[in-house]
Amino acid sequence: MRQIILKGRPDGMPSLDTFQFINEDVPDRNQDEVLLKTLYLSVDPYMRGRMSDEPSYVKPFEVGKPLNGRIIAQVIESKVDKLKEGDIVTGIFPWQEYIVAFPNELRRLDVHELPISSALGVLGTPGLTAYFGMYHIGEPKEGETVVVSSAAGAVGSIAGQLAQKRGARVVGIVGSRTKADYIIETLGFDDAVNYKNEDVGKGLKTKCPDGIDVYFENVGGEISDDVWPLLNTFARVPLCGAISAYNLASDEEDIGTRVQWPFLKARIKMQGFIVGDYSEHFSDAYKELTQLVKKDELHFEETILEGFDRVPEAFIGLFSGDNIGKQLVKVAEP
Ligand code: NDP
Repeated sequence: MRQIILKGRPDGMPSLDTFQFINEDVPDRNQDEVLLKTLYLSVDPYMRGRMSDEPSYVKPFEVGKPLNGRIIAQVIESKVDKLKEGDIVTGIFPWQEYIVAFPNELRRLDVHELPISSALGVLGTPGLTAYFGMYHIGEPKEGETVVVSSAAGAVGSIAGQLAQKRGARVVGIVGSRTKADYIIETLGFDDAVNYKNEDVGKGLKTKCPDGIDVYFENVGGEISDDVWPLLNTFARVPLCGAISAYNLASDEEDIGTRVQWPFLKARIKMQGFIVGDYSEHFSDAYKELTQLVKKDELHFEETILEGFDRVPEAFIGLFSGDNIGKQLVKVAEP
């Protein structure tokens, strides 16, 4: 079976050379373990941070060892009571075609109503991140203006829709005309700014005439520099991510400090958070998101590349905006 290992730590943008495919035997299984076939694999921007060896909230990947992340898999051999062959499960595992796991490392998915891949997107980490960032930190209110960056992505697309459910006016920042059309026409955002062909500051000023009350921050850098001056007093900023800085080379300047003064001046609350901080509320959020999706009140998109060999391409594409909604790789048919 094939496995993907980290060949070396990238300095700047990762390339196909960052990854190496190797062949390994399918692992041996004990009686109390199950054998899984990987069906879907999630690639996520935070994985770029794990390719560096700087200390963070999650351990770096090791050079020469497999990368890992959340996957959806099917049980193909089981002698344990809890799981039977054919069951669809999710867990965090190495990027490889087959996996041996203990049942307590897995969550079984209900496969009857929604596509199983949604467990890696709207009903997985991205959906929960949007939910807690927007509802627990952003706390949008009726009539307020919310801006979401990377608004057509896995987290941003859900965050914006959730803000609208609280009665807010939502404007998304995106990197293409197609994405602008998508968030307005399919997701129902009120407006969009395309940072690749518009001046973000001017665009937002026109499209947010009452200023910005919540900025759901996914990108950082120059795009966000144009947002800060438009934030209203007592605005809230769920600081979810800063993808524009993830691929800075070691000799490039970090511009983070530029944001501090405007924040102090307007007493803005900017709070960093990690979705895991809210784990005790996961089941309630999961129920609410599931209901919204089932009632067709929460739309989601998935960009799926087919084939295990396309995992590196899918990951790198996150940094050039190749995805709409959740970027996934389909590794095998159930
Ligand atoms: P997305 O699905 O949004 O994919 C990445 C998108 O980011 C691309 O499609 C692209 O869209 C945009 N992008 C890429 N490079 C840049 C750049 N240099 N400047 C501006 N935009 C860029 O990813 P996710 O929804 O999975 O993640 C969104 C953010 O949320 C990330 O920053 C991620 O790290 C963070 N996150 C944080 C979590 C937490 O617990 N705090 C949990 C999960 C995610 P476009 O074409 O519009 O440029």
